[in-house]
Amino acid sequence: MSRVVLTSVLACLLAIPAGCAVEQTAKKGEKIMYAQTDTGRWLIHDMNRPAPLVITPGTESTAPSDAIVLFDGTDLSKWTSGDGGPAKWVVRDGYTEAVKGSGPVKTADEFGSCQLHVEFATPEKITGSSQGRGNSGVFLQGIYEVQVLDSYENATYPDGQCAALYGRAVPLVNACRKPGEWQSYDIIYHRPIFKGKKVVRKATFTVLHNGVLVQDHVELTGGTGWRGPHAISEYEPHPDKGPIMLQDHGNPVRYRNIWIRQLRD
Ligand code: MG
Repeated sequence: MSRVVLTSVLACLLAIPAGCAVEQTAKKGEKIMYAQTDTGRWLIHDMNRPAPLVITPGTESTAPSDAIVLFDGTDLSKWTSGDGGPAKWVVRDGYTEAVKGSGPVKTADEFGSCQLHVEFATPEKITGSSQGRGNSGVFLQGIYEVQVLDSYENATYPDGQCAALYGRAVPLVNACRKPGEWQSYDIIYHRPIFKGKKVVRKATFTVLHNGVLVQDHVELTGGTGWRGPHAISEYEPHPDKGPIMLQDHGNPVRYRNIWIRQLRD
């Protein structure tokens, strides 16, 4: 055979009328190129490859059409307290606010790898300093914290400032807005994978803070607890899914417009 002939079977089944075979060819000896993230079926630049789903992107204040809205400003029906009881945070004027001493709130549903959008505001009235000023946090799978802190002209240890992967990774820049102003996180998170007690793929985070890249596909080396690298083991095995959790650290930090899109592992 003078030419290597490949047929995209799935494309024919999905998109090509019966009897209309489409062939992808490569000259003899020519290396067949597959797309980088390909599963092996599709050639590079293969026109028969199914296109990504078309969705309606959101504006700054609305979720895209395929997102799960976790908090739309009206109630915390999709959230519980840390102990599973009713969420105790205040809801008013389209936002929810942490109540000192009430503990965290977490989603009733659980998620693994995901794209998460969160808007937050640290208190307009400045009290405290360093870690005591506008402290909260967004926890993926209820475990791994993207720090929320008023880091606007507020010095603290860099691996604990706003948009840090707490105790593990310093943000690339400080993109904080002023206290009281609404800010956003867009987090692309891939969960760790465990085999028995061993982590075989570590978690990764990409974080945009107010639209600015601050964590660039950072591989998390372990948990994000206080003094994490020194106080705990690298990874503790956990289930494939867990809640999104917001931290009560004693400061009235506000949240609104929270939505999530689940991703393949
Ligand atoms: Mg925190």
